[in-house]
This record gives sequence, C-alpha cells and structure tokens, in this order.
Amino acid sequence: MIYPDNYYSTITHKYHKGEVNRRGLIVLSWKSFKKGFSNQTDGLNLGLHEMAHALRLINIVENEEYDFYDRGIMNEFDAEAKYEINKLIHSPQEKSIFRKYGTTNMDEFFSVAIECFFERPYEFKQYNQKLYILLSKILKVDPDQLYSECYTHSIAS
Ligand SMILES: [Zn+2]
Repeated sequence: MIYPDNYYSTITHKYHKGEVNRRGLIVLSWKSFKKGFSNQTDGLNLGLHEMAHALRLINIVENEEYDFYDRGIMNEFDAEAKYEINKLIHSPQEKSIFRKYGTTNMDEFFSVAIECFFERPYEFKQYNQKLYILLSKILKVDPDQLYSECYTHSIAS
C-alpha cells in the first residue's frame, strides 16, 4: 500500500513513513521512499528498510516461502548484532556506523544494517567484516564486490 506522504496511524497515533505487518502488507510513504534513493550513500533508505522487515517476517509467518533464508546464519547474525546494539547503547554514536534507531529491537537492527549494507558497503565491511559477511550469506550478494567491479569496468571502458 502506498501513501503519497507520511501517513497517520490510528493504532500508534503517530505519523509513519512505512511499516510491514504480519498479515503481509507493506505500507510506504512514496515521498519518503523516493527520498531514500535520492542519496544512495547516507545509509538511510526506507525501501530497503521495509523490505528487510518483510524478509525477516518470511521465516516467522508460515507460508510457502517458509525457510526462505538460512536460519543458522540468521542466528549468527543476531548474536553479532547484540554486540553492536550494546556498543550503540553504551558508546557515542560516532563509534558505530549504524544509527541508534537500530537499538529498538533485533528486527530494527537488521533493517538498519541492510540500509548500510547496500548504501555504505565498503565502510560496513571495514567496520565489522563478520557482520558484513553474514549479511552477504543471508542475501547471497556482496554489494562492495559488485560496486568495485562496476567501478573497474567504467574506468576500463
Ligand atoms: Zn523499521
């Protein structure tokens, strides 16, 4: 479901930019969605954020997509994420590449990490290689590798 701008939730009584609910509905503010792609290196992207929530839900809600990603690797990711969340809570923001919103819960941390994974892959890999590799395994893609190959090809041509 797409709203033209941020929308009022009668459940939370707040304005929202997006959400994914357990019935499988993905709700987005089109204005915020476009804003996420206007800067592709700031680690803020509503579309990526909400799709990451939807991906986490796939293995919680039982349907034909059950076991879409590897549970073992996701558990390893969650263990490493706890360390990063603790770091975010107990040290100044500049010590982490993840934004504080990721401390809300494990699902929010996963979505915040996905935003960094695609928009700041090089910094992410330098910052916490273990977490980066775990996400690469979950999503079966390595954006840092892809972007550097694209860059090499564009220089060569
Ligand atoms: Zn979220």
